[in-house]
Amino acid sequence: MDVVVCGAGPVGLMLSCELALADISVVVLEKRLENSVVPRANGIVGQPVRLLELRGLLAGFSAGRYAGPVPSYPFGDVLMDLSLIPDVRLPALLIPQPELEGCWPIGPSSSERPSGAATR
Ligand SMILES: Cc1cc2nc3c(=O)[nH]c(=O)nc-3n(C[C@H](O)[C@H](O)[C@H](O)COP(=O)(O)OP(=O)(O)OC[C@H]3O[C@@H](n4cnc5c(N)ncnc54)[C@H](O)[C@@H]3O)c2cc1C
Repeated sequence: MDVVVCGAGPVGLMLSCELALADISVVVLEKRLENSVVPRANGIVGQPVRLLELRGLLAGFSAGRYAGPVPSYPFGDVLMDLSLIPDVRLPALLIPQPELEGCWPIGPSSSERPSGAATR
């Protein structure tokens, strides 16, 4: 094993996939034994969407959901009006964070490994 990634949130999961694609062996440690159901982000915007597309993952994540440019995007109570910025086409994937984490192509899942470790 070359790298230990601590935390199977969106960042840790994407990072571990990128490392694995570079033939770097990774172990992901996650203290939660089940997927979180806490409603946090309702979608992802910008570079993460482009990264999912680059890796051929966007179609799988976007089935039945909106994926495409958005004229504005809410961040908490703040609505970002992207129409104020010329020539910006910000891609978005509207997916609740628990669903994004729950269908990540990594395994075996933490529920199958009581230690909470997932490897790839
Ligand atoms: C209430 C709320 C609302 C939000 N709304 C939005 C929104 O509308 N739009 C938006 O873009 N973003 C939103 N966010 C932010 C978004 O959830 C974060 O940006 C995102 O979760 C960050 O991902 P991450 O992988 O860096 O960290 P996290 O998702 O926090 O993942 C970290 C992981 O590490 C694990 N971990 C921590 N410590 C350890 C340890 N010692 N050992 C093993 N595992 C560990 C945790 O259990 C967790 O699974 C919101 C956040 C909150 C809390």
